[in-house]
Amino acid sequence: MISFYPGPSKLYDTVPLFMQEACEKGVLSINHRSPEFVEISKKAVTLLKEKLRIPDSYTVFFTSSATECWEIIAQSVITKGSIQSISFGINETLPIAPVGDYEELLFCLTQNETSNGTEVSNESISQLRKLYPENLFAVDATSSMGGIFLDFSQADIWYASVQKCFGMPAGMALLICSPKAIEKAKAKNDTKFYNSLIFMAEKMEEYQTTYTPNVLAIFLLSKILEQLPDILTQDILTKERAKNWYDFFIGNSMMKLLVKNESVRSATVIAVEPEQAMLAPLKQEAKLQSLLLGNGYGTWKNNTFRIANFPAHTPSEIAKLKEFLTQFQLKG
Ligand SMILES: *Cc1c(COP(=O)(O)O)cnc(C)c1O
Repeated sequence: MISFYPGPSKLYDTVPLFMQEACEKGVLSINHRSPEFVEISKKAVTLLKEKLRIPDSYTVFFTSSATECWEIIAQSVITKGSIQSISFGINETLPIAPVGDYEELLFCLTQNETSNGTEVSNESISQLRKLYPENLFAVDATSSMGGIFLDFSQADIWYASVQKCFGMPAGMALLICSPKAIEKAKAKNDTKFYNSLIFMAEKMEEYQTTYTPNVLAIFLLSKILEQLPDILTQDILTKERAKNWYDFFIGNSMMKLLVKNESVRSATVIAVEPEQAMLAPLKQEAKLQSLLLGNGYGTWKNNTFRIANFPAHTPSEIAKLKEFLTQFQLKG
């Protein structure tokens, strides 16, 4: 089965090899306070910063999921409150007008909206930030980090889980914080939770975690990152493939693109709205051909399917899915 689900999704082809290596090397039994662990963790952090172009001053943390990252942010960083409820349509760009006096509030953005296949550009984030230079910005980049270039310098907190663009099994997420975010956590001084950010920051000074982490995932991440190109190279590739996907559906009256505004279409998640009667048989037939399409989500659950455009998908797998979609329509 080739999964085009936008997470969990297809794994990098090298994952089984690296898992085997982890078993053989005894990585799965090491103690998380041992020098062996520190070496693996440090390698993963160093490579992540290098390949993704994360500022050196930022701290990378390992958590268990993006959902846990929401929790950590809410507990450890927010003092007065957060801005989370400015909604805008799926064909609109992020509104960048002063929206009120938001002193000390946290801005939370979703850079890539997995449910409907829209994205917020690096430029939009940086423009919004210019209006609120004193505020902290947190960005959910769960379904884009590792697939496109993100300008980490333009926000204080970034997070993503690894079962999307990192081509890994679920069970770990990355939380990436600027010095300002860590300062804020120290000022708030929340120490009530096992994952209070100040505890995590203390441990991370030595590349460790507060609890026994997913050592296999950290090892896999370090091995995968080693073979990945620089994110600027990956960015070009991802966007080229996204353009090919969008071109594939443009002008198709049976399978329409959900997002009409080209400038907000996601590079990593393609949302397609087929004729209503076609949706169920299409997904079913795809599965019989060992191709897993992503279901719709939330508001778009019953009228769309989604295609992950993640780096782990190979050109021949993409070609296979396109061929299937073409043949399916021809059959009517
Ligand atoms: C998948 C996803 C999440 C949830 O990730 P978990 O690892 O299941 O916590 C959160 N935000 C976005 C944008 C996602 O795509």
